[in-house]
Amino acid sequence: MTPFSPVTPAVLQQLEEIVGAGNVSVTEADRRLHAQDMSRFAPRLAEVVVWPETAVQIAAVLALANEHHIPVTPWGAGSSLEGHPIPWFGGISLSTERMTAVLALHTDDFQVTVQPGIGYKDLNAHLARYGLFFPPDPGANATIGGMLANNAAGIRTVKYGATKDNVLRMEVALADGRLIHVGSRSIKQSAGYDLLHLFVGSEGTLGVVTEATLKLTPIPELMSAVMASFPAIGPAIDAVVAVRGSGLDVAALEFVDAQTAVLLARENGLDLPAQPTLLMEFHAAHAETIHLGLETVHEICAEFGATRIHTTADPTERQRLWNARHHTYETWVRARPDVQWLVTDVAVPISAYPQLIARAEGLLAAHDLAGFMIGHAGDGNMHVTVGFRNEEEEVQANEVNKELVLKAIALGGTCTGEHGVGVGKVPYLRQEHGAAMDVMRSLKHTLDPNGILNPGKVFETAVSP
Ligand SMILES: Cc1cc2nc3c(=O)[nH]c(=O)nc-3n(C[C@H](O)[C@H](O)[C@H](O)COP(=O)(O)OP(=O)(O)OC[C@H]3O[C@@H](n4cnc5c(N)ncnc54)[C@H](O)[C@@H]3O)c2cc1C
Repeated sequence: MTPFSPVTPAVLQQLEEIVGAGNVSVTEADRRLHAQDMSRFAPRLAEVVVWPETAVQIAAVLALANEHHIPVTPWGAGSSLEGHPIPWFGGISLSTERMTAVLALHTDDFQVTVQPGIGYKDLNAHLARYGLFFPPDPGANATIGGMLANNAAGIRTVKYGATKDNVLRMEVALADGRLIHVGSRSIKQSAGYDLLHLFVGSEGTLGVVTEATLKLTPIPELMSAVMASFPAIGPAIDAVVAVRGSGLDVAALEFVDAQTAVLLARENGLDLPAQPTLLMEFHAAHAETIHLGLETVHEICAEFGATRIHTTADPTERQRLWNARHHTYETWVRARPDVQWLVTDVAVPISAYPQLIARAEGLLAAHDLAGFMIGHAGDGNMHVTVGFRNEEEEVQANEVNKELVLKAIALGGTCTGEHGVGVGKVPYLRQEHGAAMDVMRSLKHTLDPNGILNPGKVFETAVSP
């Protein structure tokens, strides 16, 4: 029994009146396409998929759903890793796939206003001709709405911040159909409660982002990448802490374990030995700044026993390196088609990173599971990806995930650095936030009293108490 009502023929007709008959589908094919993200969670079908084209249409869909107590789960590109856009209780899958417009470009202010369904890669291709880019880069083919909702981050977060640091203003449709604006186009904002950042990271449980004004950054004049290989994981991670401690303005600081280095080398023609490796990038406007940065990083890596340090300013090689890193997951899927993968995501203060890695190594060994470790090491963020082939191994993989989460929280960190809560991290939020969870619940109840927005996510139950 759910507390929700089904989508009746009368409601379907009203949906068609709001968004147009061509933007509503009850076919099994369309519902299947919106039933599952990239996580391990089984698909669940919405009763109907709708593709609004304007903010006003989204608001009207929400007002209708709220009146009839029908759940609404927003859908961006479905690339989440914790079950976020799965329509857990059926109802309406509200897809932003047909809202991909760039609404305004303010080059003098380094800002762009977009509809939520535009992919960040498409946006960056559009912005490149103006010498600008939107820095957060989760790698997968995510939409801006999905990135805002999950507060996505990526390999360049260490320098440019996560999605929350690169948004200024949003238009949001509330559960009752009101359209509100939060934030402003000013870089500095101090007027009242920070509702902008309340909605960022709320995973579609508090409102639907219908428009966003994003902060842009000029594409750097000079970029250089460094690949440093180490004889063991310990010294590689110590080097990470030292690079961060040196005050160097590093634009990416990634860790991959030895087996991942082998795979990336083999599939992408990269010259990487079979050793734990740090992948780094530096951005600057002047050659001297880059040169000094590279010199310092060489010294630090050598001090920690790096066996090989390779630097490149060649754009093709750099591109190949980051493409390879972005597609690590797919590379592993191809390498081990016999297993399913559970992607973990925890983050800790940088000084605790070596302890987190040591715990991860111990857990993989103790459970004797296939797995690999990569991490946005410069941010203290780590992903251990654990393979399982049957139910018994899946239980073990979940145990590894749980132990890692508990370790990260004990080290003063978080159960998720960037992938978000979805359904997968729900059991750990109380442990991490304590009584603050009650405040979150009150906020949810205030903004969505009928609990129609993405029920089953972030909180344990479908409706607020
Ligand atoms: C191979 C791989 C690598 C990844 N690497 C990273 C990484 O490095 N860093 C990282 O942060 N993430 C990473 N991810 C996870 C994922 O790409 C991000 O979480 C991304 O932000 C999801 O965007 P999406 O458009 O696919 O959103 P979806 O998955 O469709 O939805 C995400 C959530 O947002 C909600 N939502 C969607 N649109 C809106 C809207 N307009 N308003 C309100 N709520 C909305 C949905 O209901 C859902 O709860 C990776 C995923 C994969 C598959």
